[in-house]
Amino acid sequence: MTQHVSQSVEQHSFEQDSFEQEFDIVIVGGGIVGLSFACELAATDFSVAVVERNELKAISDEPDCRVSAINRFALQHFKRFGETVGSNAWQSILSERACVFDKMFVWDQTGAGQIQFDSVELGVSELGIIIENNVLQHSLLEMVKAADNITYLCPEEISEIDYRQDDSVPENGIESEGQLSTVTLSSGVQLTARLLVGADGANSKVREVVSIQRSQKSYQQQGLVCNVATSEKHQHTAWQCFMPTGPLAFLPLYNGYSSIVWSLDEDSAAEQMALDDEAFKRSLAEASEFKLGEITDVSQRFLFPLMHGHATDYVRPGLALIGDAAHSIHPLAGQGANLGIADAAALADVIRTADQAGRQWFALHTLSKYQRQRKGANQLMEMSMTGFKELFGQKSGLVAEIRNAGLTLVDHLPALKYRIIKQALGI
Ligand SMILES: Cc1cc2nc3c(=O)[nH]c(=O)nc-3n(C[C@H](O)[C@H](O)[C@H](O)COP(=O)(O)OP(=O)(O)OC[C@H]3O[C@@H](n4cnc5c(N)ncnc54)[C@H](O)[C@@H]3O)c2cc1C
Repeated sequence: MTQHVSQSVEQHSFEQDSFEQEFDIVIVGGGIVGLSFACELAATDFSVAVVERNELKAISDEPDCRVSAINRFALQHFKRFGETVGSNAWQSILSERACVFDKMFVWDQTGAGQIQFDSVELGVSELGIIIENNVLQHSLLEMVKAADNITYLCPEEISEIDYRQDDSVPENGIESEGQLSTVTLSSGVQLTARLLVGADGANSKVREVVSIQRSQKSYQQQGLVCNVATSEKHQHTAWQCFMPTGPLAFLPLYNGYSSIVWSLDEDSAAEQMALDDEAFKRSLAEASEFKLGEITDVSQRFLFPLMHGHATDYVRPGLALIGDAAHSIHPLAGQGANLGIADAAALADVIRTADQAGRQWFALHTLSKYQRQRKGANQLMEMSMTGFKELFGQKSGLVAEIRNAGLTLVDHLPALKYRIIKQALGI
């Protein structure tokens, strides 16, 4: 094992204006992915700091509008985090605010094509859960705070990053101890790290500082999100309708409501936002072909611009990008956070294994293993989402006919159907 920096700073307790503290790993960004990565490192010998600029908003009685479909792979990891740090935060969140879904029903609005996935046919208890992002973050944060080796710094903004690693091949094959990167926070506190992890979202400052390029393209769509009550029960099913204007999802919530993620071109999004609640309820029910009956209640609506982008590299010596900092995709299959959680698991595994073998866990050749494990899988998912979006955006009669026939055909080909769903579930 290589030597680790031990640190005894208590959480949130930097008192001096200017203070330097050494960590093995500094994670910039305490979103779902940054916190998941921190949890992966709980109860290890690594000293870890998480820097997050925004305090989490309190959990309210009404469900929040930003939710995520979380797959089985991620669920298994969250359960293990709780066991590792001896916290029941995850179990209590699961029972109170998560909605298990055991079926998915996908249909093409332009025809008769449809496909259904059922956990029973897969031999599993559920396909995943729908959970508010905010609630999930609270639960992960509780587990982070229960870990002795993790310091959570919030609200703290990064004001400067001094990245000092170089790419040169070690002389005589002997690796150096690696140089420390320094992160200066808005409070004046300086943190040094052997490994700097960018989990700071699509506009990652960490990525920018080391000049890693990112291909970025707008889908020319906005994601309209809100929560609705419906006259028919959601049946613990994730409903997804493909329309030429974009996909519309009804995701089941713990309180019987459904979370709406409706991808619309810019003009249609503006039109839907301009409708009063009654008109919007009618418009949404019609768009969903009344699959859940009438819309009887609707929350405030929000729009999110939809982009996809991919970093050319995920790693540099002593630096790695995870989650949306490395890639972002269309939300149509609810995979963005799941991919980031899988990145976090893979990166943690690579550095833990290298450390246990006495190798340099922050060296480029170690971190490259993480990139090799994750980049292809993430690119494939990104291309599939973009392909789906294009395919279902086609209005041509012939394309629509083939598409509808294809959906129904896949529904009758169990082997292919379950390969697709297993990929989405991360199993
Ligand atoms: C409408 C919509 C629906 C979606 N639905 C799903 C779904 O059902 N399932 C799914 O898996 N994914 C879904 N996604 C994608 C998912 O939300 C994202 O992939 C995921 O939230 C990315 O998490 P992240 O932690 O990588 O980044 P972010 O959530 O962007 O977190 C980055 C964090 O870093 C912090 N930060 C940034 N810069 C700094 C700085 N300089 N200093 C300190 N802190 C900083 C930010 O405050 C933030 O907390 C959806 C996306 C959209 C738009």
